[in-house]
Amino acid sequence: MKNQPELLDSQTIQNLAFETLAVRSGTWRSEQREHSEAMYLTSSFTYDSAAQAAAVFAGDEPGNVYTRYTNPGVRMFEERMMALEGAEEGCATASGMAAVLGVAMAHLKTGDHVVCSRSIFGTTVTLFTKTLAQFGVETSFVSLTDLDEWKAVIKPETKMLFLETPSNPLGEVADIEALAEIAHDSDALLVVDNCFLTPALQQPLAWGADIVIHSATKFLDGQGRCMGGVAVGSKELIEPVQLWLRAAGACLSPFNAWVLHKGLETLKLRMDMHCRNTQQLAWWLAEHPKVVDVHYSGLPHHPGADLARKQQQGYGGVLAFEVDGGREAAWKVIDSVQIISRTANLGDTRTTITHPATTTHCRLSDEDMQKSGLVEGLIRLAVGLESTEDLKVDLERGLSQL
Ligand SMILES: *Cc1c(COP(=O)(O)O)cnc(C)c1O
Repeated sequence: MKNQPELLDSQTIQNLAFETLAVRSGTWRSEQREHSEAMYLTSSFTYDSAAQAAAVFAGDEPGNVYTRYTNPGVRMFEERMMALEGAEEGCATASGMAAVLGVAMAHLKTGDHVVCSRSIFGTTVTLFTKTLAQFGVETSFVSLTDLDEWKAVIKPETKMLFLETPSNPLGEVADIEALAEIAHDSDALLVVDNCFLTPALQQPLAWGADIVIHSATKFLDGQGRCMGGVAVGSKELIEPVQLWLRAAGACLSPFNAWVLHKGLETLKLRMDMHCRNTQQLAWWLAEHPKVVDVHYSGLPHHPGADLARKQQQGYGGVLAFEVDGGREAAWKVIDSVQIISRTANLGDTRTTITHPATTTHCRLSDEDMQKSGLVEGLIRLAVGLESTEDLKVDLERGLSQL
């Protein structure tokens, strides 16, 4: 599909480190010889002759037809993501949800059954329980960490296991390797939403997952600027997603692809700093007299700490902490911050603070809320790149009033 050859051949790419791939992979240079990758803001592409158009349309000659199908800038983003996740094929989408939907539409049909971790992004729950249920796809929800519960609900119709690790907001950690084995024993696919750690800190395909999906809106962009998503995996599993996408139209805009492609260049740097800052705040909060508990897999007492050390290269940029005094106390801390943003987004340079029980997780039933450990005194912090000393002062404004 490319007009110009890639600068690095696939042989060279295999031997490069993550940091090098993040800035050098997925790069095509046009005849203008630009150093920074160009942005291809065009809906269609031209041909020298009717015969060439026919050949490109027929797939006999490489080339682009229409941006809903392929676009050089979108492909560069896909290729860079493939290199970073260690995947054979990739498909960029308009948003993270479009990636989840695309994978589901390409690999599920009426009568199929999905097993999904309970502590998962709220809209993903809605997608499975409303949108896909409408088409006769049934979903069971289980504890992310209880392997026996996953095994117990699997039946002959089960075609997909879907999870997100670490979970939001408590940072529970799933055993990807064990769940891949459970999935494959039943001829089902394991799909992992790797949004919270990114390939800089976790590569689920290497642990046996079949497909990795991302909301590129979060850490991949990393600066809270634009929406995007991507699914990566083997050619065999991703090509049906591309076919669905071309018909469904949930394609990534070339402008957003360019922003995301640039975002990947600093991904490792940013993730390391998100981890360092989150770890510092986790320790500080754990010792704070007004804080009852801190949930972060980088703390040794966290139930997922050992597994996190095994399958992750860092603990991520999200933590949750609990204050005594329920909703009133939690809201006091949230309302007292002056630097930190009161918003539910995450994966941004700017630290954000949220009350999960009344925002991101407000649609859960009381029973599910309790099962998920989402108490009213819980506060989620998605830690950005500011000085942690300034962030401590900001949090102390409310904590000192409790
Ligand atoms: C935000 C998010 C999504 C959805 O992505 P959008 O880009 O908002 O569509 C999916 N999974 C996780 C874990 C997310 O945080």
